[in-house]
Amino acid sequence: MHGTVFDIQRFSLHDGPGIRTTVFLKGCSLRCFWCHNPESIRRPPEIEFYPERCIGCGACVALCEHGANTITDDGVVTYDPQQCTVCGECIDDCFANARVLVGRAWSVDEVMAEILQDRSFYGDEGGVTLSGGEPMLQADFTAALLARCRAEDIHTAIETAGHYPWSTLEPVLPLVDLVMMDLKHLDSERHRDGTGVPNTHILSTARHLATETDKPLLFRTPVIPTYNDAPEVIDRIAGFVRDLIAARAASCAVRGETPAPVRYQLLRFHQLAGDKYRGLGRANRARDLEPLSKAQMDALSQRAHAMIHAGDPSAIIPNAQ
Ligand code: SF4
Ligand code: SF4
Repeated sequence: MHGTVFDIQRFSLHDGPGIRTTVFLKGCSLRCFWCHNPESIRRPPEIEFYPERCIGCGACVALCEHGANTITDDGVVTYDPQQCTVCGECIDDCFANARVLVGRAWSVDEVMAEILQDRSFYGDEGGVTLSGGEPMLQADFTAALLARCRAEDIHTAIETAGHYPWSTLEPVLPLVDLVMMDLKHLDSERHRDGTGVPNTHILSTARHLATETDKPLLFRTPVIPTYNDAPEVIDRIAGFVRDLIAARAASCAVRGETPAPVRYQLLRFHQLAGDKYRGLGRANRARDLEPLSKAQMDALSQRAHAMIHAGDPSAIIPNAQ
């Protein structure tokens, strides 16, 4: 069993509780215009090319049988992704690191070998998070990896967009200890404007998660300037989370269960992905956006807190900066 993975981040502190190993799967069904991981969007492996690092040695030109690389008499190299088959031959010979291969096929065993190296750092809280991209676009690989983590008694989390029928996620949930999901906009047309898809499946997945499972849930909103940073937009999302908390409490009462926590967090937009867009030769549509200040984020968080507080005082966790 193989999956397309583009990064394995160790000692991650922002992808769930404790110290974690985060496995990033390639391919996403959304097209968020501010995406912080643009290399995650397309499923096939890709080459990032950084001309400013190139020393004009010409090794990649000589190596490429497909004519994807050319060099001028002045040593200026150009790369044509249309000609490139992403064979990866030219990567290791680029000592200037001007070429980066993003994504390759990993077996479950290979990923587990990486994970198990970090196991002693997880402690009581940490573990493994599957992120992306969208891990559920590679549902079989995701399930196989989660099952192996479970067999090793490692805490498991997934970061998912939720844009699929419930039947996609439901069979995987017994292998998951924590689900993290973004709520980007409650207005479906505005959701489509920002992400390329309506929010219908996403809201439905959130409701199913809240009322039909006992999984701890963390809903998050990346606060994007000019898109969803208006207080009333955040209020509406926080109100939706408050209603989910109430719906979970009601369904748990019927089943005689204690509700698992449903939490909400705001994520601050940043401009750290700019280089990656350049390396991929793609337009960065969020290039001119100014990140919100800490004070602006705190003000939004307080409003969200006020909205949710009545339902569950523990439901808000601090903004991620
Ligand atoms: S191998 Fe790297 S440094 Fe050499 S010409 Fe190609 S891109 Fe430039
Ligand atoms: S990855 Fe392969 S096809 Fe693409 S530029 Fe390098 S050598 Fe050529």
